[in-house]
Amino acid sequence: MTTLETASTTCTVLSPGDAGWDEARSTFNLLDDQRPELIALPRDADEVVEAVAIAKRAGLRIGAQGTGHGASSRDTLAGAMLVNTSRMTGVDIDPVARRVRVGAAAKWQHVAPLLSERGLAGLHGSSLDVGIAGYSMGGGIGWLTRRHGLQTNAVRAIELVTAEGEAIRADADHHADLFWALRGGGGNFGVVTAIEFEVVAVPELAAGAFFFPVDRAAEVLATWTRLLPAFPEELTTWVSVIHFPPTPDVPDVVRGQSFAIVMAAHLGPESEARRLLGPLEDLGPAMDTLGRQEPIALGTLAMDPESPLPYRSTTALVDELPDDAVGALAGLAGTDGALALLQVRHIGGAFSRRPEGAGARATLPGEILVFGLGVPMDAESDAAVTRGLAGLDAVLSPLAVGEYPNFVEHPVDASRFFDEATWARLRAVKAAWDPSDRVRGNHHVPPASVAA
Ligand SMILES: Cc1cc2nc3c(=O)[nH]c(=O)nc-3n(C[C@H](O)[C@H](O)[C@H](O)COP(=O)(O)OP(=O)(O)OC[C@H]3O[C@@H](n4cnc5c(N)ncnc54)[C@H](O)[C@@H]3O)c2cc1C
Repeated sequence: MTTLETASTTCTVLSPGDAGWDEARSTFNLLDDQRPELIALPRDADEVVEAVAIAKRAGLRIGAQGTGHGASSRDTLAGAMLVNTSRMTGVDIDPVARRVRVGAAAKWQHVAPLLSERGLAGLHGSSLDVGIAGYSMGGGIGWLTRRHGLQTNAVRAIELVTAEGEAIRADADHHADLFWALRGGGGNFGVVTAIEFEVVAVPELAAGAFFFPVDRAAEVLATWTRLLPAFPEELTTWVSVIHFPPTPDVPDVVRGQSFAIVMAAHLGPESEARRLLGPLEDLGPAMDTLGRQEPIALGTLAMDPESPLPYRSTTALVDELPDDAVGALAGLAGTDGALALLQVRHIGGAFSRRPEGAGARATLPGEILVFGLGVPMDAESDAAVTRGLAGLDAVLSPLAVGEYPNFVEHPVDASRFFDEATWARLRAVKAAWDPSDRVRGNHHVPPASVAA
């Protein structure tokens, strides 16, 4: 273990083989195998400055991450220092101003319970285990997005250490170009040390799920799809086909079973939610958990896995799902279990509204987001997962109107996520702040002077 000591700080830096090395390089997806040259474990912004100085002196590139949930889309860390910010989880809430400031590695679970007690909610996604930094800088979509927009639009300031090692704050009035780029361009512009964002009041919430036997997936998906145009922005519904594993961490009532599940969150009374969902309720769910809830219930509604697991995934944004696509998706998701999860989210509404002063990623196209995931446990199941995901791609490719970058969980040319002007501007900001391309996030944005 190396420690760099100065008058005021001591940043822990691990080398391969040091105690804690494997834990520090681990990620949420057990298929990832990150092998950086060094790993820095800063405790605060001063130590991040130290870490950047060490990397610079050693001629290493820098990649930052807090939780490792988004690691699969990162390019290799060979020749790089991983700045693992997992010790930086501070949280400061101003409930009156509805404003939150968190450290670089704070997860939604560090914030959501404290907000819920006050009738507030952050614009988090399906899992509170996800880190606020990567989620916010890549977009951030969840149960409240149709009504309140992407989380990245709620960000008011980002503190970071630049590639040159300077600690700065970017907001609408300071380094506005950088503030624009960070909200969508992600971790390519420096090592983020803190984020400030606004949260929303949730005076009334009805949330819950209708569980159907998995062999009714096609019927459920078809009924749901027909209802979408009539749903107001206050109502967000997803259909998930889930094959729950037979493991002890899964609740008794679903353990080892497969369901087609309609999940719903309504910013309003349960009675109105039930009226809107009537045709789905009429299908006769085997289990119905819809009811009045506190905002914290949105953190577990989707029943995401809470522990790291091996997985591969695919995704697309579409305007609609025609009947033949619904049948094909239900067939792929429902039968042989190659896809452990098919999640079909209703988006639209505020997903397509760009607020004044927004960043590089303010909106997403489409009305429906599809995400499929398989869990390979051995070579045989890996082949089945690969076939299942390819089947999903074949259904979705002709319909796709875009992709949500945070759900694209493998390295790609990131230019495909942006229109030409936005991509050129991102690369220009990158060239101004990191011309030698030292800092690299997932979904790499190269500086304008370097070939993409
Ligand atoms: C179980 C699960 C559920 C999810 N559900 C949703 C959902 O409902 N909605 C949604 O929008 N997304 C969801 N996601 C995707 C999630 O938004 C991305 O994986 C996101 O990148 C996670 O951010 P993180 O900070 O936790 O991950 P990390 O892997 O720590 O970071 C991801 C990337 O963010 C950047 N980054 C992180 N920290 C820093 C830093 N300090 N400085 C500079 N750059 C940094 C880097 O580019 C890094 O590669 C989910 C992911 C998982 C695994």
